[in-house]
Amino acid sequence: MTAVLTRDRAATRLKINEIFHSVQGESRHAGRPCVFVRLTHCNLRCTWCDTAYAFEEGIDMPVGAILQRVAAYGTGYVLVTGGEPLLQEGVHDLIGELCDRGFEVAVETGGSLDLAPLDRRAMVVMDLKCPGSGMCGKNRLENIEMLRRDDEVKFVVADRADYDWSREMIERHRLAGRCGVLLSPVHGALHPRLLAEWILADRLPVRLQLQIHKFIWPPDARGV
Ligand code: SF4
Repeated sequence: MTAVLTRDRAATRLKINEIFHSVQGESRHAGRPCVFVRLTHCNLRCTWCDTAYAFEEGIDMPVGAILQRVAAYGTGYVLVTGGEPLLQEGVHDLIGELCDRGFEVAVETGGSLDLAPLDRRAMVVMDLKCPGSGMCGKNRLENIEMLRRDDEVKFVVADRADYDWSREMIERHRLAGRCGVLLSPVHGALHPRLLAEWILADRLPVRLQLQIHKFIWPPDARGV
């Protein structure tokens, strides 16, 4: 029975924007070698989006071929991202196969889609979209109840108004007691020092995060 399921899942097709090996730039796992599987399509349009190339570009690949590409890198840590990876129903076959094969899997989601179908062997990094993203009305707040200790919520902060909104959400939903909380400045729009000062002044129980890939690789580099 298991073999049949595995074969079926391997045949599931996904539209993939890119697969590459790099250093994880975000989350508490920042700095770790990681295989990135970026899925095509997104249902949101954040004002500061840095992966708009994933909205449409991509090729159809069966899960079996994706697994082969991932395994060839010889790295045990895999990030499934986008775009919005949860838009393609078949992503659950990919995540299940990766977990079955012993990969440590993280999933990045914009936070507008239901987390319930997700294989919870995977760690979740879920955005709560701040007002400055233009997508604040899309947050699926029911997802907060599904977050676990090892998961993380991420606020991408463009200005003081976004910071105040984030702090309010952290307090109202007691996020720090539920999961990790990341605050990340919009690269090039908000100086990290300002965000650090606000966090320290408020004794906010969060992790300030910089997207370290933006400091390592050339601007607008792809596949890194
Ligand atoms: S959810 Fe992510 S990929 Fe989609 S528009 Fe926002 S930043 Fe871009």
